[in-house]
This record gives sequence, structure tokens and C-alpha cells, in this order.
Amino acid sequence: MARAEILAKLHSFGITPTPQRIEIAEILLCKPQHLSAEHILQQLRSAGSQVSKATVYNSLNLFGERGLIKECLVDPDRRLYDSCIEPHHHFYNVDTGQLSDIPASDIEILGLPALPDGTQCEGLELFVRIRNTSE
Ligand SMILES: [Zn+2]
Repeated sequence: MARAEILAKLHSFGITPTPQRIEIAEILLCKPQHLSAEHILQQLRSAGSQVSKATVYNSLNLFGERGLIKECLVDPDRRLYDSCIEPHHHFYNVDTGQLSDIPASDIEILGLPALPDGTQCEGLELFVRIRNTSE
């Protein structure tokens, strides 16, 4: 994604594009992927960036709040950030911790139970837990 595109995207989600936020967004938004804050920090470091760990975490929180990215709370110890905000589902490999996308159209949901009083459905995401076979 070109820098101008990143800038436009940050603006359209109401995020002030600081140089650090642009660097972080460039890494995460370059393709559909799921990255942890640690992964992003590693990529920034190997590109010679000086962005602090706190800035990475704060920026990812802000991006998530504004809807630029989606948090995947698959494992409370390993929060992943999803660059794709379209509704979709995931395979979660319990052996590797890897998430991979399943298009929403590949899963058909036939019905939902009645929602608890005073609530409304905000979204529906499935995690299909998989593990590697031994062969
Ligand atoms: Zn995803």
C-alpha cells in the first residue's frame, strides 16, 4: 500500500497520521494478515525504526478503537491484530497459534438463539480450532 493510501486511510478513520502511526500502519496494512504487537515491533526494529513498544501498543489500541483494524481475541495472552475488517471467520491452529481467514460466505449459519434481554447482535465470528495431523 502506497504511503498516500495509508495517509488517506488513517484520515478516513479519524486517526491523526503521526510518523510512527504511519510506520505501524504500513506494516500491518500491506496485506491481509494477523500480527501481534510483538511481531510488528520486530519488523519495525529490523527496518531500523526507533518506535517505542508503548507507541506500538497505543497505536494498535487506537487503530482498533477507530475500526481501522480488528482485534482477534483468540488467546488472551496473544492478542492478534487483523488488517482485514470485512466480516470473516478464522481457522486457529492450536499447535502454531496461526490464524488464517475463512471467507464469511464459506460458512452458513442457520440460526441464532434468542439474545439475552437488552442486547443486540454486534457480529458473529467463528474460530475453527485445528491442529496439525501427525503424518
Ligand atoms: Zn482475519
